[in-house]
Amino acid sequence: MSHTHTNLTGELAEYLRRVSLREPDVMRRLRERTASVPEARMQITPEQGQFMQLLVQMLDARKTLEVGVFTGYSSLAVALALPPDGRVTACDVSEEWTSIGKPYWQEAGVAHKIDLHLAPAVETLDRLIADGQQGTYDFAFIDADKANYDRYYERALVLVRVGGLIGIDNVLWHSKVIDPSVNDADTIAIRDLNEKIHGDERVGLSLIPIGDGLTLARKRP
Ligand code: CA
Repeated sequence: MSHTHTNLTGELAEYLRRVSLREPDVMRRLRERTASVPEARMQITPEQGQFMQLLVQMLDARKTLEVGVFTGYSSLAVALALPPDGRVTACDVSEEWTSIGKPYWQEAGVAHKIDLHLAPAVETLDRLIADGQQGTYDFAFIDADKANYDRYYERALVLVRVGGLIGIDNVLWHSKVIDPSVNDADTIAIRDLNEKIHGDERVGLSLIPIGDGLTLARKRP
């Protein structure tokens, strides 16, 4: 197949990081700490963290939402990019994973910016909507259990303001989206959501082939 994508080999990825990555030491150490947990591949890459920081700053974001915190690397990245009064509403169900990140949030001086909600994210998002928070978030990042992706997307779309951005991670799902022999619930959920957003007039979009694929959906008026 002819295409114009540059294949990101290990060597080229190393070069990319050498000439562009500006990862603070505290983020690097949290990333290295996370590499020792068995689910380490769930962590976003440092260049994706830096990309999200740039997006948050371009949006002049103050209120952001995160569905799926894991060990807190992306929360830390976003919190560092927010102004002093900025806030991350962070949703996760794992005390074990999120507690890994907390000391690093403290050390970076951003722990006060991260409101962690340890509960099923659908419940937290529904409560935010019931509390009148719709249209008040500038940015939302969805990177949690894939079977619930559509539920998270619909709620995030209510919660972000017009012009706000929703980032959805793992949308290329390690190439399983194009493997017809793979039909587990997670893969089907990602395929369905990709198709749905493609035709969704409520948003403008771009699917960025960074990491495992990141869809950016911008809420239209
Ligand atoms: Ca992910």
